[in-house]
Amino acid sequence: NEQLSGLATDMESFGESLAKCEQTLCEDPDVETLQNLVTSLLHETRHARDTNEASREVVNQLNSEIDTLRGAIEQMSEEVLVDSLTGVGNRRAFDLELNKALATADAGREGFCLLLLDIDNFKTFNDEFGHLVGDMVLRYVAQMIKRSVKGRDIVSRYGGEEFAVILPYTEYGGGMSVAHAICDTVANKSLTIGKEQRSVGRVTLSAGMSEFKLGDDAASIIGRADDGLYAAKARGRNI
Ligand code: GH3
Ligand code: MG
Ligand code: MG
Repeated sequence: NEQLSGLATDMESFGESLAKCEQTLCEDPDVETLQNLVTSLLHETRHARDTNEASREVVNQLNSEIDTLRGAIEQMSEEVLVDSLTGVGNRRAFDLELNKALATADAGREGFCLLLLDIDNFKTFNDEFGHLVGDMVLRYVAQMIKRSVKGRDIVSRYGGEEFAVILPYTEYGGGMSVAHAICDTVANKSLTIGKEQRSVGRVTLSAGMSEFKLGDDAASIIGRADDGLYAAKARGRNI
């Protein structure tokens, strides 16, 4: 910062002047030298006072710059975990939360379930209505999932048209009923677009679920949920 280094230079030269005065005083000066010394000290002090005032201004200005930067950093560190299209957690958030849940479960404090949800035949929404409508469907499904789970459950977008939900404190039976609740909520609502309320048809999801078991890591628990998901697709989707 230029202003800061300017101030530092000013303060340094004031310090040097004071040191010179000290040295002169030690050398048993005569009256004239003393008078010169007083004059120069007066001058230097006045200058230092001005510098002091300027530095207060610079400090205020820098403080407000720091506040602005701090706000920007806070916002960015929140955004870094959010999927910008749907507003739910992104893949990075999911990885972090899954590792947290695994660590907590390993420590024996609580089990959890992992749900993977994949929109059925999503490609046809894009193909029939365009990608903007595809994006709308993604936002809609994310909101429906959020609405179907409790606040402590963690919803993220796992990839393209796939979502993941971590269900803390939840055993197999509870996880299955959440999975059904989500799929039913999405399947039973009809999604329309635009002022004309044009229907885009039924949106359905397929789900796979796994419950934590001892020795699990991210790959193993995701793998079992994925197997369940593919089985659901094979059974004809919407489950
Ligand atoms: P299935 O029932 O087997 O899951 O079929 P599907 O069509 O849903 O699955 P597929 O993997 O064939 O297609 C997924 C599509 O999702 C393809 C890709 O273009 C689309 N997609 C991925 N991310 C986005 C996105 O951010 N926006 C939009 N509009 N489409 C996306
Ligand atoms: Mg998919
Ligand atoms: Mg799909």
